[in-house]
Amino acid sequence: MPSTLQEIPTLFAKYKVAKNILDRISIWNGDITRLQIDAIVNAANSRLAGGGGVDAAIHRAAGKTELQRECRQYDGCAVGEAVITSACKIEHVKNIIHTVGPQVYSSLKSSDREKLVNCYRNSLELAKENGLKSLAFCCISTGVYGYPNDDAAESVGDFLTKYLAENENIERIVLVTFLFIDYELYHEYFANFAENF
Ligand code: ADP
Repeated sequence: MPSTLQEIPTLFAKYKVAKNILDRISIWNGDITRLQIDAIVNAANSRLAGGGGVDAAIHRAAGKTELQRECRQYDGCAVGEAVITSACKIEHVKNIIHTVGPQVYSSLKSSDREKLVNCYRNSLELAKENGLKSLAFCCISTGVYGYPNDDAAESVGDFLTKYLAENENIERIVLVTFLFIDYELYHEYFANFAENF
């Protein structure tokens, strides 16, 4: 729809806000342990015991014995919460943030969505407390824990765009995908965000 000249300053201000958010988000398909970044966020289990999937890849890269020793300082981690350790042997990363996503058994509940968003919020708050400015998130819960990929991309996208608008301390968030479906869903989400902001 054509805009009047009077609308241009408002449109320009909106554009600047959207650009500031989008400039700080990347989508990258690959192994999260290969990124050079302040912190990587692990999809851990509540015992912080090391499991399969991305958790196994992170424990392998960090050194299983070393990372498990650090995880034992905590009495596990509740769903939606997050804890922090060093990155042990991963030299190009400062810290690992471990968060526990919800497990979705049959149909998705709104409480599952809240828990998933809490994983992202609490990881970002831990990053802030520890002066970490760049974070890479794997697609928490969308593997073995069964959270639907499309709802995760939308809920995470909605949350992160709002969070970045309100928190200038975070300089970069990398959304790390491993499966092409997640890569596509994130691209779709952010293309739509840019168009409709
Ligand atoms: P959850 O139990 O929380 O579902 P999973 O490890 O099963 O955790 O899967 C979470 C996401 O991490 C999935 O999208 C999976 O494809 C992805 N993934 C698995 N290995 C890696 C890796 N090395 N780097 C990044 N993402 C990974």
